[in-house]
Amino acid sequence: MTGLTDFQQKMASNLPGVDLRFEEPMADHTSFRIGGAVEVMAFPKSVEEMSSILKTSALLDCKPAILGAGTNVLAPDEGVRGLVICLKDCLGGMEQIGATTIRVAGGVTMTRAAVFAANLGLSGLEFAHGIPGTVGGGVYMNAGAYGGEICQVCKSVDVMDFEGNIHTFTNAEMGFSYRNSILEECGGIVVCADFELSEKPTEEIREKMKELMGKRSASQPLDKPSAGSAFKRPTGGYAAALIDQAGLKGYAVGGAAISTKHAGFAVNLGGATAADVKALLAQVSDIVFEKSGIRLEPEVRIW
Ligand SMILES: Cc1cc2nc3c(=O)[nH]c(=O)nc-3n(C[C@H](O)[C@H](O)[C@H](O)COP(=O)(O)OP(=O)(O)OC[C@H]3O[C@@H](n4cnc5c(N)ncnc54)[C@H](O)[C@@H]3O)c2cc1C
Repeated sequence: MTGLTDFQQKMASNLPGVDLRFEEPMADHTSFRIGGAVEVMAFPKSVEEMSSILKTSALLDCKPAILGAGTNVLAPDEGVRGLVICLKDCLGGMEQIGATTIRVAGGVTMTRAAVFAANLGLSGLEFAHGIPGTVGGGVYMNAGAYGGEICQVCKSVDVMDFEGNIHTFTNAEMGFSYRNSILEECGGIVVCADFELSEKPTEEIREKMKELMGKRSASQPLDKPSAGSAFKRPTGGYAAALIDQAGLKGYAVGGAAISTKHAGFAVNLGGATAADVKALLAQVSDIVFEKSGIRLEPEVRIW
């Protein structure tokens, strides 16, 4: 195995049969289409495989970064040394485990989970239909939209620690708050989440999901790479309204710009770098602060 780093060689020889990719571009795995090469990117096909990957990386003294669908991550231009574990399209599976409860694996997209629930005549995940991330990322972020939030329906979460052991957290133990959960502090990987829903006719649920998707396509720049809302909602206002009032729609740094369709979105107009996006967010935050006295904080996770 020539041409490989020591870490790449050790991962490959310890994990035969596991889908490991070397120098894999983050840009191919993030909705912003930004980010340099990752030393080792692992795609576990099962919980057992994920546990082996974590045990091996712990032995090699490497703490991995976790990626879902990459729809809320700004990845560095210089890439990532070490290990990134990517769960989207890998850690899958959904099942009904009680009359109104479903269990969904961390790598399943929130849209697929919402459709699965709708087909069972279970309501509560309509808001998540159209959020492009995974259930793992949604739980980590306490994703929400149109008045719904993961914390309202999440009953418990199975989290794997970085030594490969699974712990079950109740809703209260998850410490959910606005776009945040305890995982941000304590780390760990969402293996699966149980959602407690309520019965409703499938047609009504589908109608609601269609209505919300219509609102999304009418208001959001879904044709351009982005990571959704660039800033968290500040106390006392809405980020998009404050940015719009500051006259910043279309404001650009390099290839990154504030969307002309929705001022809350930073978009990649083509060839944007992470440095462009970071500079854009910093400048927009400063200008809005000067004009309104309100400081905007990024919602997108800057790696
Ligand atoms: C067009 C568009 C619209 C959007 N609309 C919304 C919206 O309405 N509401 C909303 O809340 N968000 C929205 N988002 C942002 C994003 O989709 C959500 O935050 C989503 O929950 C992120 O999930 P992900 O799988 O992409 O996570 P990633 O972006 O891959 O990761 C985000 C964070 O979660 C962590 N993470 C990911 N998976 C796991 C896991 N299995 N275990 C532990 N940690 C994990 C990562 O380490 C990272 O820190 C939007 C994004 C886009 C591009």
